[in-house]
Amino acid sequence: MNNSILKKSRGFWNGADPVERTKQIMEKSIKARKIYKMSHGEVRERLKALNIDKPENKIFGVPRGGMCLCNYIEEAELVLYPEQADFILDDIIDSGATKEKFSKYKKPFLAIVDKTKEGKYTSKFFNEMDHVLDDHELGWVAFPWENETSPEDAVERIIQYLGEDVSRQGLIDTPRRVLKALAEMTSGYDQSATELLQTTFESDHDQMIISKGIRFTSLCEHHILPFVGTVAVAYIPKKGKVVGLSKLSRVVQVFAKRLQIQERMTSQIAEAIQEALDCLGTGVIVKAHHSCMGCRGANQPDSEMITSELLGVFRKPEVRSEFMKLSGMGE
Ligand SMILES: [Zn+2]
Repeated sequence: MNNSILKKSRGFWNGADPVERTKQIMEKSIKARKIYKMSHGEVRERLKALNIDKPENKIFGVPRGGMCLCNYIEEAELVLYPEQADFILDDIIDSGATKEKFSKYKKPFLAIVDKTKEGKYTSKFFNEMDHVLDDHELGWVAFPWENETSPEDAVERIIQYLGEDVSRQGLIDTPRRVLKALAEMTSGYDQSATELLQTTFESDHDQMIISKGIRFTSLCEHHILPFVGTVAVAYIPKKGKVVGLSKLSRVVQVFAKRLQIQERMTSQIAEAIQEALDCLGTGVIVKAHHSCMGCRGANQPDSEMITSELLGVFRKPEVRSEFMKLSGMGE
């Protein structure tokens, strides 16, 4: 990092040394992201260490973690209510709030991980996790039954599957960023083309209206890779019912910002306009480059795909030909 830039921004850090401050923030976020994935084997071992899995014991599992843990119980009787139990079992005692909640039953409250006791972790289990943790702290514990509970975990799993180290600094925040980007690129699901095209105005124009060079980025639903291109949209109004030009490009975005195939996107744009404006005809041409063609598979970085949808009078050869000529995208 350039030192002069850091010096200029000093005020922002309230006088703290910016280099030191950045280091602190990074270390903090690394720790927060540190996940200790507990194996089935360790769950069994830890449960055994509690010494409660005996035929004469009745155990109540705290929803949900404790209930999942009850699947590992072999000898003891599982009961539905804490009142019936000899022991109340949870997966983890974190802050101790749950334990406190169950204190009214006056039964021993046990968990296979007790963070109030083993924050600094030094038991026999330590060897199994030192490949994940190097500062002897337990971090975030993920039990076997919790795998892939959040979309972030799922992205993390994919990164791990690729053989990468998810705790590497450049990757720490990647799951969150991936999901944010995907949400943005699929924001069209929350928008309605019909609503967008509601505001029309009167005009005595009865010729073809065309908007071309509308740029878009969509996601191919087969590979979740971008396909990028331009759209030409045209329609011939009926009884002078027209729509603002910007609305046409916004309709394109509504259907582009989804998991798509180019053919369907093309039809959806045309049908939405045709239906909302009740016009004499609609034409849509989409020209796009597909990343899934360019950077994998056929490896054709320059290939383009052209699709069209012609509705109403646009199916007539002379209208179609005028549209192709004006759009500059065909014939
Ligand atoms: Zn694809």
